[in-house]
Amino acid sequence: MNAYEIIGRKRDGIPLDERELRFLVEGYLGSRIPDYQMAAFLMATALRGMTLDETVALTRIMMESGRVFDFSTVVVPVMDKHSTGGVGDKISIPLVPIAVECGLAVPMISGRALGHTGGTLDKLESIPGMRTDVRPRDFERQVIELGACFGAQTEDIVPADRALYALREATATVESIPLIVSSILSKKFAEGIRGVVIDVKSGRGAFMQTLAGARELASALEAAGRSIGVPVRTVITSMDEPLGAAVGNALEVEEAIHILAGAGPADAVMLTLRLVSEMLLLANLVPDLEAGETLARRAIESGRAMERFERIVAAQGGRIDTNAKRYGLPAAKTIRPVESAASGFISGIDARIVGETVREMGGGRFIPGDAIDPSVGVVFHRKRGDEITRGEPLLDLHTLTEEAARIASRRLADAIRISPEPAEQAPLFLS
Ligand code: URA
Repeated sequence: MNAYEIIGRKRDGIPLDERELRFLVEGYLGSRIPDYQMAAFLMATALRGMTLDETVALTRIMMESGRVFDFSTVVVPVMDKHSTGGVGDKISIPLVPIAVECGLAVPMISGRALGHTGGTLDKLESIPGMRTDVRPRDFERQVIELGACFGAQTEDIVPADRALYALREATATVESIPLIVSSILSKKFAEGIRGVVIDVKSGRGAFMQTLAGARELASALEAAGRSIGVPVRTVITSMDEPLGAAVGNALEVEEAIHILAGAGPADAVMLTLRLVSEMLLLANLVPDLEAGETLARRAIESGRAMERFERIVAAQGGRIDTNAKRYGLPAAKTIRPVESAASGFISGIDARIVGETVREMGGGRFIPGDAIDPSVGVVFHRKRGDEITRGEPLLDLHTLTEEAARIASRRLADAIRISPEPAEQAPLFLS
């Protein structure tokens, strides 16, 4: 068996078997297969796709590349949530402590920014001192003691996803259903969970830009879950405009804390409550979504979810000062308001352009290892459907320099549409 022949078979659309996939993934991790051959395999997969059997085999191989946790002794249901990736999607951050307060344990392994989309790990690491490269023993202990841990793919935990994720990012092979499914499910199933809720994003800012594509991804995720024997529940939500008001790492953490404080933008709050509720339903802890949302709302209103968040962050070395301005998170040097150039109704905010702009501002990476500036980003004052008068504040740009603000402001002008006629708010839930 050699990598050249396996790549050729994939290029010609011949399904690979488990041995061949293992040879590639393990060879890559062991530095026996170079980047260029793995990149060629990823591109052949992105173009040719994979059968369900191949996707399931790749998921297992990636999952088994590191430690697979066993939380069978934990008495509460061990569940997780994941998103297929979007712009302004900070939901995992408030969701985890709320879910724990509603009776679940959540051993969450997340990813970094991918393409124009943000990553939960990069957001969390904007909290001063916060560590996500937790050792398996500490990850396990924290889940048992505190009900949750925010962890990363490391050399010990799904290292195959860590390596392939970075290579996909650099080779335009992110938008591939089998590669997304194996990336997400290998991380989730390594957590030793009993079930997972996946928020499948659809629209301009998502990897799946059409509803048909999102449906295909959702059914591939569910089918792979069924084959492996872990229930996967999917919800398809809109990612045409950014979620919430903030896009950018520290700004999104700040918004996540607002949600835990009982505030926060309506769409982000609604999605947080719904996804917690889907997890509770999947765990059979509530009879319906309404009951789940009531429990989630109570966890926020009582202050318990915020307290839980502070304890989780502190256990991972993070410092959040709820009394300080912006909670002590890194702040940009320049905050430049951008005013509306026209009067009318916001009829669209293109999430992809916004995501790309924040990436160019320094909030994301172009090549693996690029440093991220946690403080930069955009905060919108208006969303689709809102009325605005010329000269009123539309958004704030958080940048390092005035020049960066000027460039971002020009770029964002293409992202925002204002029409004279009233525009309806876009529906968030598409399934
Ligand atoms: N989230 C992941 O973890 N992996 C992907 O490939 C896309 C979104």
